[in-house]
Amino acid sequence: MKYDVIIVGAGASGIFTAYELIQVNPGLKVLMIEKGHALSKRKCPIDNKKIKTCQNCKVCNIVNGFGGSGSMSDGKYNITNNFGGDLFKYVGSQEAIELMQYVDEVNLKMGGEGAKLYSTANSQLKTQALRNDLHLLDAQVRHFGTDRNMIILSRMYDYLKDKTEILFDTEVEDISKGEGGFVVTTNQDEYKCSSLVLATGRSGSKWISSICGKLGIKTQSNRVDIGVRVELPAAIFAHITDDVYESKIVYRTKKYSDIVRTFCMNPYGEVVTENTNGIMTVNGHSYADPKLRTENTNFALLVSNNFTEPFKDSNEYGESIARLSNMLGGGVLVQRFGDLVTGRRTNEHRLAQSFTKPTLNATPGDLSLVIPKRQLDDIIEMIYALDKIAPGTANESTLLYGVEVKFYNSRVEVDSNLETRLKGLYILGDGSGVTHSLSQASASGVHVARIIGRRQEYI
Ligand SMILES: Cc1cc2nc3c(=O)[nH]c(=O)nc-3n(C[C@H](O)[C@H](O)[C@H](O)COP(=O)(O)OP(=O)(O)OC[C@H]3O[C@@H](n4cnc5c(N)ncnc54)[C@H](O)[C@@H]3O)c2cc1C
Repeated sequence: MKYDVIIVGAGASGIFTAYELIQVNPGLKVLMIEKGHALSKRKCPIDNKKIKTCQNCKVCNIVNGFGGSGSMSDGKYNITNNFGGDLFKYVGSQEAIELMQYVDEVNLKMGGEGAKLYSTANSQLKTQALRNDLHLLDAQVRHFGTDRNMIILSRMYDYLKDKTEILFDTEVEDISKGEGGFVVTTNQDEYKCSSLVLATGRSGSKWISSICGKLGIKTQSNRVDIGVRVELPAAIFAHITDDVYESKIVYRTKKYSDIVRTFCMNPYGEVVTENTNGIMTVNGHSYADPKLRTENTNFALLVSNNFTEPFKDSNEYGESIARLSNMLGGGVLVQRFGDLVTGRRTNEHRLAQSFTKPTLNATPGDLSLVIPKRQLDDIIEMIYALDKIAPGTANESTLLYGVEVKFYNSRVEVDSNLETRLKGLYILGDGSGVTHSLSQASASGVHVARIIGRRQEYI
């Protein structure tokens, strides 16, 4: 029960920690503990078309299990410091990019070959956007698609399973400082290690906060992003998505001077629900296989909210708004843009008349009863701004699903090694609040593994 390294969580950051430890120091005894299932057993009941609403499973197969919350995602790996987290602030800009490029090389080797790398570098879109006061953020994005992403994860599992011990369906309940290291208590047993890596992602946010509180590690409230998922015919955005795939476009509204941005673009994709701590929000993904594509593109429009005094809990604010939509719609709401701007509810009849056919079976309703006026005005203004570079965005039949909420974990106090004030305890990936994306979470794992693997006591 004594290990050199224990990794809690088998998402992108945990997997890449384990992978890189093998490269740097294959002699280390490593244990990975994951509360969710093995990849082959991860099945969301909504996949069965007869079940349409979230069953609130005790362990959610969308966000828990091997691969973490990224497994059933669109598999978009953005190589950039412009969004997706602040890893560069800890490891340096050049190092952060090199780590993300390394992750990309490993993914290509593990079954991702053939996936296209898009870039904004020579895109005309940037100029066109600027002419309309819209700002395209520079990035390269490798799009694997949900199907290819699963292949990469299963090859990664095959690679790791004989070199690292992996426990599934095992939740870490507590950690404490022990002699020369840490004691990890699960719902089944107790394990000891000298280096401990917490890679518990967004779903482990409340747990990380309580552990940090107990161990005296400082945390700082992070922002919450609130908005909607827009769905429209793929043809409207095809000139953009065919060129750069994922366009992160930022706009400052005239009315409030707030920043609104596009997020997580899924050409020919599907809108899906997401369960965060029992609250239903909306998300999206798409497949690389042309046979699985839909006729629609979806993306999020998000407004960031930061709170300081006297209210600090940004996540609670986001949760309350999402709960309101769940209360009114029994889950996610959908409204036609035309109905929203004319101030009427979308009902079954109006939705059936929509030229854009929804890919998610959401409840027709009225988003103005849920999203605060300020954020809703911001979103409407942004839709009209986007309409200038992608005419048709502001069509009456454009569908808005709500609410989309991006929760960010409280930022944990870590140093440039992503090590806490307790020597040997590392917190990384989305669980640390430092990253919010697949590539940066994975890169943080590589970074920490290189530091641990070369620690004096292990050489
Ligand atoms: C539907 C969806 C689509 C997405 N699409 C994209 C995308 O295309 N591109 C992108 O960059 N990002 C995307 N994201 C975000 C991306 O998935 C995350 O940024 C990334 O997975 C973070 O990696 P992580 O390792 O930090 O955390 P996670 O992937 O969340 O992994 C954490 C793991 O820790 C486990 N865990 C938590 N607590 C415990 C505990 N106490 N004991 C044991 N195990 C525990 C969890 O079960 C989980 O498996 C998407 C997210 C979702 C939900």
